[in-house]
Amino acid sequence: MEYKPVSELQRILACLPEAITDAFNQGQPANYIPALAEVDPKRFGMAVSTVDGEDFTAGDAREMFSIQSISKVFSLSLAISHMGEELFQRVGVEPSGTSFNSLSQLEYENGIPRNPFINAGAIVVADALLEYVSSPKQDFLSFVRGLSDNIDIHYDESVFRSEFDNGQRNTALANYLKSFGNLKNHVSRVLDFYFYQCSLSMSCLDLARAFRFLAQDGRHPFRNESVVSRLQARRINSLMMTCGTYDEAGEFAFHVGLPCKSGVGGGIVAIIPGKMSICVWSPELGAKGNSLPGMRALEYFVKQSGHSVF
Ligand code: GLN
Repeated sequence: MEYKPVSELQRILACLPEAITDAFNQGQPANYIPALAEVDPKRFGMAVSTVDGEDFTAGDAREMFSIQSISKVFSLSLAISHMGEELFQRVGVEPSGTSFNSLSQLEYENGIPRNPFINAGAIVVADALLEYVSSPKQDFLSFVRGLSDNIDIHYDESVFRSEFDNGQRNTALANYLKSFGNLKNHVSRVLDFYFYQCSLSMSCLDLARAFRFLAQDGRHPFRNESVVSRLQARRINSLMMTCGTYDEAGEFAFHVGLPCKSGVGGGIVAIIPGKMSICVWSPELGAKGNSLPGMRALEYFVKQSGHSVF
């Protein structure tokens, strides 16, 4: 299919909320983290950031929301930039086919999480990162602020607290990992870092800008440097495609056909390699923990713009 000119992108975004109205009222905001259930479920925002440095937005694209598991791409990228392939001795690269917080697979796979985007995998990545960063919370925040070119990005203490107080499953996963020797630091230190990562608040525009490095071979969106190598960027995109939306990754590949990463705050980021990064946000989730209007919006965008990796 022929690519539409860039100016078309704004037109597609403008039509979008109207085009996907039937995707609303089908799901619910996450409620297992009580702070996330307080968000207005009808919010919808979308932003696109092209490799030429142009941004396009729709709806609540500048509204801050809880990025949750989207943070797993930031932590993976930072870990890979420090330790390269060595990371994959402790975490796999296969889709899990199970929910993002599943415990059962860890038992029969001897404490090696299937991939870095399920919770167990991200907890291992957080543990690995602790070896390389001197002030983890601050260094992680600076990394993300730099990628978004926005110093006004913060951790949301109330989301952190809400998740910390209700984090029994993640605590179980971390203890399990520890029992298999796949966690080097103290469980509470690793979980503290992991929960803080998930509690970051960002807008669709911040995320679309920040993720541009994955659309441009690992080059930093705002600085003349590389975030990760070209090969590493390719690997992160592959992992997003196969594992970024958990046990719905097949549906996403089928309907959207782009590397994607979702979070239970209702955000989804998607990459069109060589062209642009996209972020959509709407809090109503389906059974697998992915935003239903978000998924539909990406499907619409891909259809209208003609962009796909296939
Ligand atoms: N913070 C959430 C958790 O650990 C992240 C899950 C998600 O966004 N899928 O359960």
